[in-house]
Parts: sequence; C-alpha cells; structure tokens
Amino acid sequence: MKTSSANNHNNHSSSSGSSSNNNNTIARCAACRKLIKERFLLKALDQVWHEDCLKCSCCDCRLGEVGSTLFTKANLLLCRRDYLRLFGTTGYCSACSKMIPAFEMVMRAKHNVYHLECFACQQCNHRFCVGDRYFLCNNRILCEYDYEERLLLA
Ligand SMILES: [Zn+2]
Ligand SMILES: [Zn+2]
Ligand SMILES: [Zn+2]
Ligand SMILES: [Zn+2]
Repeated sequence: MKTSSANNHNNHSSSSGSSSNNNNTIARCAACRKLIKERFLLKALDQVWHEDCLKCSCCDCRLGEVGSTLFTKANLLLCRRDYLRLFGTTGYCSACSKMIPAFEMVMRAKHNVYHLECFACQQCNHRFCVGDRYFLCNNRILCEYDYEERLLLA
C-alpha cells in the first residue's frame, strides 16, 4: 500500500507557495468535487481535475488522454475540434472579404471559401442551387451563363 502523500511530484517550479506543508496538498476535483487521490491530477483553468473528469464542455470527450490538446476559453474546457468550431475562423470570404467564423456554413470553391449568402455569381448575382454549375474565373465565381459570355469576349 502506498501512502497518497506524493501527489505533486517535485516539479512544481515556482511561486505557488505550498512548498512542503502537506495539509495544503489536498486537491478537490473541479468537476466532481471529490478528493483526488490518484497520483495524476490534471490542471486546467487554475483548478485540478481527475483524469476522467476533465472533459470537453461540448462533446464530453476526455481531455486527459495523452496527446489531446486542451483549450480553455471563457471558463469552458474544450477539445481542439470544438474550440476551432466555436472560436476559430474558417478564413476570409472571397466575395465580401469579411471573416467567416468557424461555426458558420460555408461554400468552397477550390481554395476559396464563401459565406453561404455570398456564394452567388459575382456578375449577375444568381444564387446557385445544388447541382448548378459555377466557374471560378480570376477568382470570381460566375454562373455558367456569365462564364461563357466571358469566354466569348476573351
Ligand atoms: Zn473528478
Ligand atoms: Zn469536444
Ligand atoms: Zn461573404
Ligand atoms: Zn451570372
């Protein structure tokens, strides 16, 4: 039987002040509020967590696994996927040049991304439906009609 006094092994580097009085090392999990007796406790948002309790606030996936990256924002714990979905950006709309937040639906054409509402022929403003053909010409989206017009002019 091991004693559970060896919680944080010697790698606390600086100013947390709890140098060696054992009374202060009792850690309570921020999620389940139970004491953490395991040797491994995880730190996030200035709190400590059981390995099993550290979960993404959105999808509940475990964040304590080796190799998973933990993101925190506004007191949320998030996995990389959800963080990017909520707070990341997809890029800049090739039509209106404004930023597209990652949670928005986008249209893509080659390397360009577009707001859904911006994805229209930049010549005649025709909105494309599923199955419509569109063309990229000098980085502008064109409907089939305008594209062929342009070819005739060229
Ligand atoms: Zn817990
Ligand atoms: Zn998640
Ligand atoms: Zn746009
Ligand atoms: Zn058009």
